[in-house]
Amino acid sequence: MKNMALIVQKYGGTSVGSPERILAVAEKVARRRASGDDMVVVVSAMSGETDRLISLAKSVNPQAPARELDVLISTGEQVTIALLSMALERRGCAARSYTGSQVHIRTDNSHGKARIIDIDDARVRDDLGKGRVVVIAGFQGVDEDGNITTLGRGGSDTTAVAMAAALKADECQIYTDVDGVYTTDPRIVPNARRLDRITAEEMLEMASLGAKVLQIRSVEFAGKYRVPLRVLSSFEEGPGTLITYEENEMEAPLISGIAFSRDEAKVTVRGVPDKPGIAARILGDIGSANINVDMIVQNVGADGTTDFTFTVHRGDYRQALEILKKTAGQLAAREVTGDDKIAKISVVGVGMRSHAGIASTMFKALADESINIQMISTSEIKISVIVDEKYMELGVRTLHAAFGLDKQPTAGR
Ligand code: ADP
Ligand code: ASP
Ligand code: MG
Repeated sequence: MKNMALIVQKYGGTSVGSPERILAVAEKVARRRASGDDMVVVVSAMSGETDRLISLAKSVNPQAPARELDVLISTGEQVTIALLSMALERRGCAARSYTGSQVHIRTDNSHGKARIIDIDDARVRDDLGKGRVVVIAGFQGVDEDGNITTLGRGGSDTTAVAMAAALKADECQIYTDVDGVYTTDPRIVPNARRLDRITAEEMLEMASLGAKVLQIRSVEFAGKYRVPLRVLSSFEEGPGTLITYEENEMEAPLISGIAFSRDEAKVTVRGVPDKPGIAARILGDIGSANINVDMIVQNVGADGTTDFTFTVHRGDYRQALEILKKTAGQLAAREVTGDDKIAKISVVGVGMRSHAGIASTMFKALADESINIQMISTSEIKISVIVDEKYMELGVRTLHAAFGLDKQPTAGR
């Protein structure tokens, strides 16, 4: 007989999007349980449900208090845990459902983007000891005053990985609507290829640069606690993609993937005095408004003045522009401009550390398609460029081909 394992599985919105899908998930979970493994299952709200709840809130109060919004949107997951447990019981598989607060997923109090502080797993272990499947609502927790919190969009991934870390699970399996992590979003590039493995470091970059297949925080958690993590399809059998923690740079592909995001906007202040403290002053005002700044470019000064450009989340664009206009007035800057029709494309790969020439290949490929690069930023394992939003998909496809990632017999790796 095989050794019993403790498995944490997570099923995303599409995977539990209808009664039929929930029955199919129950079937899968019950079979695995019957084979002897201990099972903890984290579920998302049924697909579209979180969006529906958010728009419901907006129709009642466009500025709904964050605390109440969390009370509302956490209900999506509560529906699914109950339905899945019922479906399991129907199959004769003992199951118990719990909300985040019932299993003590303690978070800080930043509603809408709460961070998990700790998990008291006593209740879960107790149920597992009694042979039950434990079904847990993803995306939610409770702060120290007992308020319901949520973990940010896509947060059920983080619940699952945090639960797996707390329980020291043998594997955390993220079941979704694609059969693994791809070289880029397969919905944009049909030629994208599934990766058998990707390093946690690369996955973290891919997630933070726009690939929503795993929430960023779930990857951070996985890296911190070395959680064995795999992304798989709930619709078909297959090995999926394993997230790995060791890398062999010599064998690493040059580029593992291409990420992109439309969620970008840039603002520029022209003709600011070129003297110490200006960047600190401009970014200080933006930071005080809790707006995150991503890329920053400052020009070489000429005639005692310089230009300063940075990018922010598109949702923060209007506010950033307003703040910058105020600061610019105080600094006697020449003008403030902005553009929220931009996109970021990034190539990611640990292989970059030991290879030169990635940037020039990237820039040449874009130039050959007459795609203008507006801004560039680099780190050890990624290069990002800002382009006109119109050219985002073309840019992604072009780079995917240029780095030999296309699914073709002649692919470069
Ligand atoms: P779930 O509801 O299961 O959490 P998500 O919609 O959050 O699923 O994430 C899965 C989606 O992520 C896929 O349908 C795919 O379109 C998108 N995606 C973006 N980049 C990638 C990538 N590199 N590999 C796989 N999927 C990706
Ligand atoms: N239901 C939440 C969302 O739609 C959390 C998740 O699915 O991971 O963002
Ligand atoms: Mg998701």
